[in-house]
Amino acid sequence: MLKRNTIILLLIFSLLISAFTFKHNIIDELAHSQKTPLNNSIYCYKKGYQGKKILLIGSMHGNEKAGIPISIKIMNAVFEEASAVNTLICIPSLNPDGNILNKRGNSNNIDINRNFPATNWILKDSALIDNDKKIYWGGQKPASEEETKFILKLDSLYHFNAVIVLHQFMNCVEYDGPAFQLAAYLSYRTGQELKEDIGYSTAGSLGSYFGLDKQVEVITIEIPKNPSDTLQENIANAITDIVVKGY
Ligand SMILES: [Zn+2]
Repeated sequence: MLKRNTIILLLIFSLLISAFTFKHNIIDELAHSQKTPLNNSIYCYKKGYQGKKILLIGSMHGNEKAGIPISIKIMNAVFEEASAVNTLICIPSLNPDGNILNKRGNSNNIDINRNFPATNWILKDSALIDNDKKIYWGGQKPASEEETKFILKLDSLYHFNAVIVLHQFMNCVEYDGPAFQLAAYLSYRTGQELKEDIGYSTAGSLGSYFGLDKQVEVITIEIPKNPSDTLQENIANAITDIVVKGY
């Protein structure tokens, strides 16, 4: 039986996604979807074919939900433009199971951001991991999870030039790969601190796979626990501009 707060979270999550769906013609813009182990859907929307292919992920860790409404705001703004310099490929949430369960990992307790087939991916014996580190478990093998495989499939179709992922609960712009200039611009626009390194090991992360191995521009925007309206606006406007006006 579902707990009451789980049902409330599920409702909020569905409302956020459907708020976007109602405003736009989902048939034109919903490019791909993928079922999760708990039978939720990961939705991927796309606008355009031109310029740089920019992937935006609103939520990857289930308990970090502030990026979902921000990514939907960006989609609304980009889809209202007659034309844009770059292509937006947007996944408001890569981890709907984790969003509903309100936990970092997916339904298999695997941290998607440690499950990418980066050269630095390492197998850790889950039984030997300290309790407080289990939330970072990358699985028995890289790309074992549906969520990870979905991103790899999309990359094989679009060959992303840039990947922007919204995380919590720090307050900074961080980058991997050749993304210093883009990170500096986003830091300037959002007023958030620019960081070269998040400060801890992220073997098997999306940043390691796309940024370090594939030399794709990867940006991580960390959103604080209770972001101000101004910060949310600044993040949404800055990302909308790099899609619409270019960078
Ligand atoms: Zn995160």
